[in-house]
Amino acid sequence: MYYIGIDIGGMSVACGITDEKFNIIYKDSVPTEAKKPGEEIVADIIGLVKKVMDKVNAKEADIKSIGIGAPGMLDRKKGVIVRSSNINFRNTEIRKLINEQINVPVYVDNDANCAALGEAVSGSTKAVDNSVMITLGTGVGGGVILNKKIYSGFNGHAGELGHTVIVYDGEPCGCGRKGCWETYASVTALIRQTKKAIEENPDSILAKSVDGEVNGKTAFDAMRNNCPVGTEVVKQYIKYVAVGIVDIINILMPEMIAIGGGISKEGDALIKPLIEEVTINMYKKMAVPTKIVTATLGNDAGIIGAAALGVD
Ligand SMILES: [Zn+2]
Repeated sequence: MYYIGIDIGGMSVACGITDEKFNIIYKDSVPTEAKKPGEEIVADIIGLVKKVMDKVNAKEADIKSIGIGAPGMLDRKKGVIVRSSNINFRNTEIRKLINEQINVPVYVDNDANCAALGEAVSGSTKAVDNSVMITLGTGVGGGVILNKKIYSGFNGHAGELGHTVIVYDGEPCGCGRKGCWETYASVTALIRQTKKAIEENPDSILAKSVDGEVNGKTAFDAMRNNCPVGTEVVKQYIKYVAVGIVDIINILMPEMIAIGGGISKEGDALIKPLIEEVTINMYKKMAVPTKIVTATLGNDAGIIGAAALGVD
């Protein structure tokens, strides 16, 4: 039997077919034409699924399930994408539309949850039953895995870890609150913090090293060039990331936390000081503390996690 996992992103839709151990056998992608009507985007996705099935000669009967990870608000029970901020989905009945052409069970879930499940079934948190994955990207995504299943809450919307407040009355957030973790720990936030430091320190190595756009790597690069200003930006940013992680540990006490998203590519430059900061602030010193690791699957996490939605 095979599983199919689909990861819908703002730029592209990736589709992979996996074996029963969730190894991707074949994958392909199409651009997301985000402005097209949702139904037409789904038609593109169906075309992609059929292409991937053809490639490995899989028939409907060979497919256990099709899982979809999508950004935005979803109705998991009905298999509907209610809305998505960057893609033109409006109450798009993706399960029904797929089933009109491919008769295989279809599951939908949030993209961050799928990434967390992907890491849990075959990535960085595979060894444990209870884990959390944090994606440090444009926003801060989170997924809580309990006993190898996504914890979704009574209405399917649990795991919005980026929207817990770490600074009362702090930076405004897209969700309507102020001071959300996302507004301090996302790549967007790091870029804002870096730009501010550049403005305040025009003579620093950081300011002088900027060649083109400031991005999530700019401050880390300046730190590697022994720039005190860049080092301070990174240090402060890691403190913000740590605050949210300590909260997650104190509430859930997962065995592992995986860090994914663009910034996680910094590897030890991020993880080592992060672990130090978390260890200092954790409630009591635990004999066996939560292990913090870098996510390992990259973009495949979303595909694999979506594929694993169909596991009983
Ligand atoms: Zn928020």
